[in-house]
Amino acid sequence: MEFEQLVCYSQTIIILILLIGYFINFKNSKAKVTVKNKVQCSSCGKTLLGQDPNYCSYCGHMSSHSKGTHLEK
Ligand SMILES: [Zn+2]
Repeated sequence: MEFEQLVCYSQTIIILILLIGYFINFKNSKAKVTVKNKVQCSSCGKTLLGQDPNYCSYCGHMSSHSKGTHLEK
């Protein structure tokens, strides 16, 4: 492989890595915001709304913090 080709190749890879890093950061920041604002039901997986994040209005599932860690699979 010629030197110029090698430089061109490595530059392309660096740009790709930067793009992938940007996307991962974007995904992570988005996921953090989602986790902060929304709590998902551990039983049916629906987003819990309202003041009580431990009670699911869809399936009536109750999850307490002390039992939640114990029931996690
Ligand atoms: Zn539920």
